[in-house]
Amino acid sequence: MQLSVLADRVERLEAEPADLETTAAVADLLVDAGGGPSADSDDELATATRFLLGRVFPAHDTRTLDVGPALCREAIARAAGPNVTKEDVEDRLAERGEIGAVAAAFELGGQRGLSAFAGGTESLTVSEVDDRLRELAAVDGDGSESRKLDVLFGLFNRTDPAEAKLLARLVLGEMRIGVGEGTVRDAIAEAFLADPAARGVDGDVDGRSDGGTHPDDGAVTEDGAVTEDGPVTHATADRIAAVERALQVTNDYGHVAVLARDEGVSGLHAERLVVGRPVQAMLAQAGTAGDAVAEFGEVAVETKFDGARVQIHYVPPDSTGAASGLGPRIYSRNMDEVTAALPEIVEYVADRVDVPVILDGEVVAVDDGGDPLPFQEVLRRFRRKHDVDRMRETVTLRLHAFDCLHADGSDLLEEPFRVRHDRLAGVLPEAAAAVRTVDDVEAIERIEANALDAGHEGIMLKDPRSTYTPGDRGRSWLKRKPDVETLDAVVVGAEWGEGRRAELFGTFLLAVRDENGTRERARARGALDDDHDGGALDGDHDGYATIGKVATGVTDEELAALTERLEQHVVGESGTELSIRPSVVVEVGYEEIQTSPTYSSGYALRFPRFVGVRDDKGVGDADTLDRVERLAGGSEGPSEA
Ligand code: AMP
Repeated sequence: MQLSVLADRVERLEAEPADLETTAAVADLLVDAGGGPSADSDDELATATRFLLGRVFPAHDTRTLDVGPALCREAIARAAGPNVTKEDVEDRLAERGEIGAVAAAFELGGQRGLSAFAGGTESLTVSEVDDRLRELAAVDGDGSESRKLDVLFGLFNRTDPAEAKLLARLVLGEMRIGVGEGTVRDAIAEAFLADPAARGVDGDVDGRSDGGTHPDDGAVTEDGAVTEDGPVTHATADRIAAVERALQVTNDYGHVAVLARDEGVSGLHAERLVVGRPVQAMLAQAGTAGDAVAEFGEVAVETKFDGARVQIHYVPPDSTGAASGLGPRIYSRNMDEVTAALPEIVEYVADRVDVPVILDGEVVAVDDGGDPLPFQEVLRRFRRKHDVDRMRETVTLRLHAFDCLHADGSDLLEEPFRVRHDRLAGVLPEAAAAVRTVDDVEAIERIEANALDAGHEGIMLKDPRSTYTPGDRGRSWLKRKPDVETLDAVVVGAEWGEGRRAELFGTFLLAVRDENGTRERARARGALDDDHDGGALDGDHDGYATIGKVATGVTDEELAALTERLEQHVVGESGTELSIRPSVVVEVGYEEIQTSPTYSSGYALRFPRFVGVRDDKGVGDADTLDRVERLAGGSEGPSEA
């Protein structure tokens, strides 16, 4: 598929409000990318699917492009010709606030004379862009920045405005076209698993010869007749569920699209976990002992360990199969690999486990007596690249495993929790979290009191019959911690400090996610002025609503580290105020949440204080405005998060 075709379709998708038509339009695009009239080669389906979600690599893949906004701006400037500087690009960015629009605003290709060096003159295909970006991701060592710049320049130099917009957003992982993962999931089902009638194939509405419905799926007979009554407009819930399950298992939208097209529902069902390929962590909601008893009857109660989530993949050396001898690999909650930072956990698992496994658990820091230390201590170790051995002497870690997703060739996702836990206790008894199954509130409260006395964060209440649902924040796992409430907020702005801290950011503007348009509702009910806190620091980033500024509780060391991290994400500056692309999550404490016209959420934190950077969380894990509303309204008391 030509990049221009994809870019054009993406522009059209962006221009339309997201609705059911969006799913149909994405489905059409996938069909075309994967064998329709404009496809050039087969695996472009996988690539186009990932590109739509702003990805070059699937989520489980630990490779990254590692291209910062500054490098991208420089490549755009270079492709725009000798009269355009990086500063010009930055100025445009301050005006337009979004890199795609900036890239599209310049006439690129000003360096055509250099095109031999820059990698060709023909128009770009989706596959070629993918190949070049994969090469770029592999660039390493001395001079890597300038080699990456060459690759990017070579690509931008061959783009028209729509392609440049797509490329810039792809490179920075900010697609923002209103097509989310749910839409792509539904579109995969619709493109390749829906009935031909629904896809307009028999009527040949847009000239496609094959809607992609797979003959195995039971919806179509061998001669192509539809077996169900009447045309179905969209893929059925069970087909969407089949796509969803395959996505949970593989974490690769591209692969799942190809699988749906080539092997249909049965192929999706046959997909298995792979040891060494991380899956998303199952998540918990807040809940009380009463909720758990009412919802589950029997409740499996565990300690809630205050550490960092880990997923451990291991294939012992003498196992059979392709991955034999895959040393323990450890992934964070966001599926980043953190193996090198945690050598003693690697050794611990390798010494004890003798079958291939995927385990889920928490790594906590402990004191000399083995008692848990606050979670900030773990973070001193968790993503560390340097001084690992020295820090190992300083901060002692312990693994608490609480789930088992795979053991000795068997996938356990669909097994009930109690079965998974039994397997866990079999493969790693020393580290398996203790579970007590009880059915009354008083018993749960006694366990909770003991857990708190022992210095833990709280308890987890699990439905013993529940399956493991990766990435899902359902009600099968309830978390209960009595600590003072905190919020996980995203930094969207900063101000330079004063005096001794003048070289560092001093104040941080915080936002929560606003996916459901809650902010619009606040505006509608008049709780919010139209012109709240304007200027560079109004933190107006799509999908986020500001909630306060935090300046206290940060050590000099934390400030320096935060400043360095956030500087890479500055997208605008006005006086001492900076606007920051949402990328870092911080945990903040506060005394109260008040309604307030000052911030775009319509709420403000009273006496906010910085608790720590949540390196283990991505912006998608930050708290939402809906939760803030509940907290402010008192429907989620401080003791229930
Ligand atoms: P929170 O980070 O407050 O949303 O709480 C959910 C997190 O608690 C999970 O993502 C785990 O990292 C952590 N956790 C600690 N102990 C357990 C446990 N026994 N079972 C499940 N999750 C746990």
